[in-house]
Amino acid sequence: MAVRRTGSGEDRLIERHFRPIAKDPAALGLMDDAAMLAAPADADLVLTADAIIAGIHFFPGDPADMVAKKALRVNLSDLAAKGATPLGALLTIALPKGTGDRWLEKFAHGLGTDCAQFRCPLLGGDTVATKGPVAISITALGEVPQGRMVHRSGAKAGDAVMVTGTIGDAALGLLARRNPRRAAFRHLDRKARAHLDRRYLLPQPRLALASAIREHATAAIDVSDGLVGDLAKLAAASGLGARITTAGVPLSLPAARAVEAEPGLMRTILTGGDDYEILLTVPEARRAAFEAAAAAAGVPVAALGRMQAGGGVEILGEGGKPLKLARLSFSHF
Ligand code: ADP
Ligand code: MG
Repeated sequence: MAVRRTGSGEDRLIERHFRPIAKDPAALGLMDDAAMLAAPADADLVLTADAIIAGIHFFPGDPADMVAKKALRVNLSDLAAKGATPLGALLTIALPKGTGDRWLEKFAHGLGTDCAQFRCPLLGGDTVATKGPVAISITALGEVPQGRMVHRSGAKAGDAVMVTGTIGDAALGLLARRNPRRAAFRHLDRKARAHLDRRYLLPQPRLALASAIREHATAAIDVSDGLVGDLAKLAAASGLGARITTAGVPLSLPAARAVEAEPGLMRTILTGGDDYEILLTVPEARRAAFEAAAAAAGVPVAALGRMQAGGGVEILGEGGKPLKLARLSFSHF
């Protein structure tokens, strides 16, 4: 007789929604107390966790598949910044009573698609009820060759400060969602608005660049709380300062248009967060090789400044005038 589950609501939910997407052998079909991975030889494990909460990190009405993807991708972005390759993920989800199967189905479908796309199998997790909003915490495991994780602390004075992709889109997308009538956004066409919106909804983890970062970067950090604040963290960890120019900060066309209409939005771009791009430092002698590797990986990169002795982050705005910011990044507390 095949006795499988005792049929509690939680068991049914796991069986119906999560078991079908947890196909990796290490997940043991979600039929055991824990998953089991063979420890990779000659590698270090890289571990990270990130939680997203409805009403804080996403809008309660956002499509459930996008929410699931965002929850996974913010973790994959951390792995990429450390030069790591994903091994798997654990999902803890707190659901308000009465969360429908439709929502969960969509959530699981989005998660399953991304787990496959980024080769980061779902290995297990926990499912609980909450009297609060939906809360999702993902723990991701990755690996790097022994001793090769890229730290925040390795930058050297003179290293180029570089960043992937474009900065500020997500922060502007969030602002536009909250205040669509703001003049800077009214001038954008539908396509431009959709671009900003999507960049908030769905980060693009730069896993394709992980090996190039491992190869060429002296330090790296995932840009999640705001470019300037995250650069300040990297600089402090490295015992250095940094100087960047606003002209060097890569902007998408829609972001550039918004700043043209309202120059003050540059501050939002520099400090807004939710970029999930990677900020890294590269010695001048390695820069060309890094740029070639990034081009081969299909990831745009730009140089925006340099590491220097001292502390803090100097920002040079239009005409080389220093820019002072009231706050460097987003903080929950
Ligand atoms: P336990 O009571 O031992 O914590 P559970 O009944 O919570 O076990 O979980 C049973 C199995 O289902 C475990 O393998 C666990 O990792 C998995 N699991 C539970 N919730 C989730 C989830 N949200 N996503 C993925 N796997 C889950
Ligand atoms: Mg449990």
